[in-house]
Amino acid sequence: MCLFIGQLMLSSCYSLVLCRFNMSSKTSGLKNITKIWADQDFLMLLIFNLLSNATAVVTFEDVGSILMILCISALSATIESCICRLFKNRKIHNIVLSCFIAAHLFTAIIDSFLIVNFNLIFTQNAVGIIAETTPEETKSFLSTYLTIWNILLIIGAVVATIWIISWLARKMVNNKPIAVTSMVLTILGASVYLFMVYKHATTGGGDLSVSQLHSFSRYGYSLVIFKNAHEDIKTLRDINRAVVAERQEQDAPTVVVVIGESFSIYHSSLYGYPKQTNPLLSERVSDGSMVVFDNVVSISDHTGVVMYSVYVANGSSAPSSGNVLFPVCFRKAGYKTALLDNQYFVGNGLTWINDEKLSDIMFDYRNKESVGLDNNLIKELPTVSEPQLVVIHLMGQHYTYEIRYPSEFKRFSASDYSGDLTDAEREIVAHYDNATLYNDYVVDNVIKQFEDKNCILVYFSDHGEEIYEIDDFMGHGNAAQRPTLKYQMRVPLMVWTSKAYQTLHPDVVQRLKDAEHKPIFTDNIPHFLFDVAGIKTEYFAPELSFVNDNYKPATRRVLGSIDYDKYKEESTVKARY
Ligand SMILES: [Zn+2]
Repeated sequence: MCLFIGQLMLSSCYSLVLCRFNMSSKTSGLKNITKIWADQDFLMLLIFNLLSNATAVVTFEDVGSILMILCISALSATIESCICRLFKNRKIHNIVLSCFIAAHLFTAIIDSFLIVNFNLIFTQNAVGIIAETTPEETKSFLSTYLTIWNILLIIGAVVATIWIISWLARKMVNNKPIAVTSMVLTILGASVYLFMVYKHATTGGGDLSVSQLHSFSRYGYSLVIFKNAHEDIKTLRDINRAVVAERQEQDAPTVVVVIGESFSIYHSSLYGYPKQTNPLLSERVSDGSMVVFDNVVSISDHTGVVMYSVYVANGSSAPSSGNVLFPVCFRKAGYKTALLDNQYFVGNGLTWINDEKLSDIMFDYRNKESVGLDNNLIKELPTVSEPQLVVIHLMGQHYTYEIRYPSEFKRFSASDYSGDLTDAEREIVAHYDNATLYNDYVVDNVIKQFEDKNCILVYFSDHGEEIYEIDDFMGHGNAAQRPTLKYQMRVPLMVWTSKAYQTLHPDVVQRLKDAEHKPIFTDNIPHFLFDVAGIKTEYFAPELSFVNDNYKPATRRVLGSIDYDKYKEESTVKARY
């Protein structure tokens, strides 16, 4: 909303300026229209705008964004120089001009510092990192970077920059080609902003990256986003601190939740793929310890959205439970909880799952950083007392596929594939299948760690993946725009039970088998976990647990606005291989 108002004010301000100069041009001729873009104040502000806005190129490095930075800089310099012109008193005029210049220099220095030392510019993530810095860290940071020599260097660079830009601006005064170019760029910049305002007003959407191309709006936007996200996380912490849960009077099995990544069932031999990509898990199915579910749809094609929907016990059709996170219920019920995550880490980004305090509410143990290949996560398994809940979040088959498996798993190569694919595509499909084969080994290895326990383990993927089945697209995140949803939205789900668990819970094992073909939505997972672990909490909805007698499959499995079960794929869709 703040952003919208800012854009509206900026655009209105520009319109007023244009009106004023159009009116005066009626009497003074065409020359006066370009006059504002030929004076020294404008030219100085234009160069300072370019200086401070150009740092965004680190993130937005495409030609379109660079041209946009030029236009937005010209628009901003025009508005700033017009504001200066409003002050007829020379002293006040110079103070206002100096304030604009100081603001541009400030943002340029901060961004340059962040680029040189951390290869990032000021965004909401940078605000998050700064906000979470302890006083000791700040002290050691300042003593490392803010030496007397660095301070002198910055002062020298600032003085030199101001002098050079003033000199350049003086040289360009009354240069007609520069003035006309600046005018054109300003009009283009204003059009982009007005279009954004229109998009916000009509659809509530629009390309927010435009506001990231001007340092002032990027700084403002970052602070607003940080504040909102921070407030949301604080609320989430308070809600979860107050959760009440306990265990039923029964055995408390070890519960293991393995969350995969970008696993396509269309590349899994467990789901009928002709290449043997899941040999080890197939053996577990054969010995009766694993059940494979074949009618499972994910709530989204984006990792972050799925992760939240799997962690919160709300469920798409459950009564609102106020965003209670399932590991908190386990912990409150006496479970020791651990998270081994190969994608999200505490302090790395501004999301609920990276928040240290929230993480401390959810888990007794959590790994600190990426471990490279997924199998290394197993080395991080903590020794904690029972009963325990272990959540393992893999990197799985996320692109780039060839770096997701070690060389000894290079079983498939381009020559193994026929069909309407290019050589480069065959190569990538082979990498994906090798990554799936490695994932089979990793999940099987996780199971091995719990074989001698009373344990139930669930594996599912956050979403699927397209690997050139329809056309030359590979990846995920755009299912709603594709000719078919199935490759990205159908996901694998399997549940393994140890011998001890099978002996103690033959009824659950039978109900697992009965549910093999039932429609399941990934946000059913927390309720399934509460059910099998006997967690007593008001947030448990039996109708959402697919092993419960009261299970009611979701009547609508919706991706955005598309109902998966009513969706008919385009009749022209034909698999290429
Ligand atoms: Zn994902």
